[in-house]
Amino acid sequence: MHMKMLTDKINKEWHEKNRMPKNASLAQRIAWHKEHVRNCSCRPMPDKIKDAIKEAI
Ligand SMILES: [Zn+2]
Repeated sequence: MHMKMLTDKINKEWHEKNRMPKNASLAQRIAWHKEHVRNCSCRPMPDKIKDAIKEAI
């Protein structure tokens, strides 16, 4: 049985290089999450961001 901890999936290096600004705009957060999902799976994309991306397309 394979039970992976969520913390096993964190790409620490990517997070070190890609800090989210504290007062990030929605566009910045969308861009961050798009890159994040490609590089790391420590946490899922929030529904709010998913919806915003859908609306942008
Ligand atoms: Zn992550």
